[in-house]
Amino acid sequence: KLFSELQDLKGNIRVYCRIRPFLPGQTEKLSTIENISENGQLVIANPSKPGKDGKRSFKFNKVFGPDATQGEVFADIQPFVKSVVDGYNVCIFAYGQTGSGKTYTMTGPTGATEEEWGVNYLALNHLFKVSQDRKSNMVYEVAVQMVEIYNEQVRDLLSSDGSPKRVGITTISRPNGLAVPEACMHPVISTSDVLDLMDIGFKNRAVSATALNARSSRSHSIVTVHVRGRNVKTGTVLYGNLHLIDLAGSERVDRSEVTGHRLREAQHINKSLSSLGDVIFALAKKSPHVPYRNSKLTQVLQSSLGGQAKTIMLVQLNPDATSFSESMSTLKFAERVS
Ligand code: ADP
Ligand code: MG
Repeated sequence: KLFSELQDLKGNIRVYCRIRPFLPGQTEKLSTIENISENGQLVIANPSKPGKDGKRSFKFNKVFGPDATQGEVFADIQPFVKSVVDGYNVCIFAYGQTGSGKTYTMTGPTGATEEEWGVNYLALNHLFKVSQDRKSNMVYEVAVQMVEIYNEQVRDLLSSDGSPKRVGITTISRPNGLAVPEACMHPVISTSDVLDLMDIGFKNRAVSATALNARSSRSHSIVTVHVRGRNVKTGTVLYGNLHLIDLAGSERVDRSEVTGHRLREAQHINKSLSSLGDVIFALAKKSPHVPYRNSKLTQVLQSSLGGQAKTIMLVQLNPDATSFSESMSTLKFAERVS
């Protein structure tokens, strides 16, 4: 019994690894990727340390190589997104060092064509389709919130006055899973509404940044899609939440080289990413104590992590040889939660 329960719960956590391609301008193309198998095995090796020492094998639910398209990646996410309409809570995280393709996977490149749309757009599109297609008695409403967590402070990226406002979080369990009730909730009825909102959100993120790239890699951004379904015959109401999370860069900062606010940032990121790892690890192990309280990130997502909720961890890798040790620590994080 215990074993099958564990299996069931494990079934609610999926870990996918995605390796981004070398970039067009990159001339030195020394790769750490030695082998990718259909069954989710990945072998990485340190090219400057040939032999057994610099080599390791990892096993995930699936590994996407550098040629995988946005559509191929989404195909393995789609069933989870679909379950939101049936009242499930789902979290999709992109984890990895800065430059490993987290934002590419979640949002797409700047000025993305439809083919390059990331998970955010594809997921919302899919939700609209599913919620409209049903010839059932269900009527759906979809609304979006978008916040960022920077230095353990939560900010609304879709506040009505256009400047990101600090918002509080509640840990009181609510039926609609709203952890940040003060953050503006925007009803959406079409994909173009979503595109508009994302634009506003990302611009707001930019407004608050001294250096956009630097800042966006040091904050977590969370797009939350609330789906409310009502059965018009019975009056029964179902709530499902989808959280799309572009995590802060996981790279370790050399403590001897940074001080002041940069050190504080690094400590906050470190703490929230390790708290996230601890929570998912505790859930996978069915531990009676799940340490949600250790970071804002895990508090905000508490009602959507654990229980019946489903989690997908998208582990991003930069194939470059110079990223070998970062890749190794990314993979070890992922291995622990899978
Ligand atoms: P991160 O958000 O992890 O810092 P980005 O998503 O910004 O990383 O990706 C870094 C660079 O690599 C960007 O120029 C991005 O367009 C490019 N890139 C990432 N993943 C892919 C991919 N799968 N295909 C093509 N280009 C990619
Ligand atoms: Mg990014």
